[in-house]
Amino acid sequence: MATTKYKRILLKLSGEALAGEQGYGIDPAVINGIAAEIKEVVDLGVEVALVIGGGNIFRGVAASSKGMDRASADYMGMLATVMNSLAMQDALEKQGVDTRVQSAIDMQQIAEPYIRRRAVRHLEKGRVVIFSAGTGNPYFTTDTAASLRAMEIHADVILKATKVDGIYSADPNKDKDAIKLPTLTYLEVLQKGLQVMDATATSLCMDNNLPMIIFDMTCRDNIKKVVLGERIGTIVRGGNSND
Ligand code: UDP
Repeated sequence: MATTKYKRILLKLSGEALAGEQGYGIDPAVINGIAAEIKEVVDLGVEVALVIGGGNIFRGVAASSKGMDRASADYMGMLATVMNSLAMQDALEKQGVDTRVQSAIDMQQIAEPYIRRRAVRHLEKGRVVIFSAGTGNPYFTTDTAASLRAMEIHADVILKATKVDGIYSADPNKDKDAIKLPTLTYLEVLQKGLQVMDATATSLCMDNNLPMIIFDMTCRDNIKKVVLGERIGTIVRGGNSND
């Protein structure tokens, strides 16, 4: 079996990643493709936890800008992440991967409550744990939920899957001189206001020295490559780290 660089990972997928070309909802082909890639990583013996956003269904900020109460809108956003998590659970289980969905908001008919020790136990048994309903609190994002859960389960790294292959010095679509930055410190991300992870999520990682890798999920096998230690995307870490 190939030697993996990381033993326990937290993979953060945006809701939009599940929508594919249609831009809304869940595209079955896309979610099945992602599930197949996750299975390959699980088969390498890596413990995988997932946090999935809800932006393909509902985003609290967008609704509140149109007049809805922000907290109510955010709770709807959290419910959207539960839908995505159940869809991913189904896709993974169809491929023979054992999973558990835990929810930060109690809904015991469809998901386990979030219990840290139980989540760790599932991971040790080789189950993929999907953390749904974000942090359970309005005014947060699933990026922050990903950082928080990664810390709690002692993940080795957060892998943030995006549609671009890392962080650039400028917008590569607008500036032809933009270059990809292979490494950045947390402080650089915060000071430059880079929108890779929100500031709360980035500060949490900084305070706890948890590396984040931002990479392109639209390329087949990229999750596996990152887990095997290939240098793709951009790694964000502390100034003195050798990750
Ligand atoms: N959300 C929240 N608290 C959390 C996580 C999420 O209120 O801890 C809400 C928020 O309204 C957000 C929505 O859930 O807009 C969907 O999450 P997010 O925008 O992070 O999803 P993504 O952009 O990753 O698809």
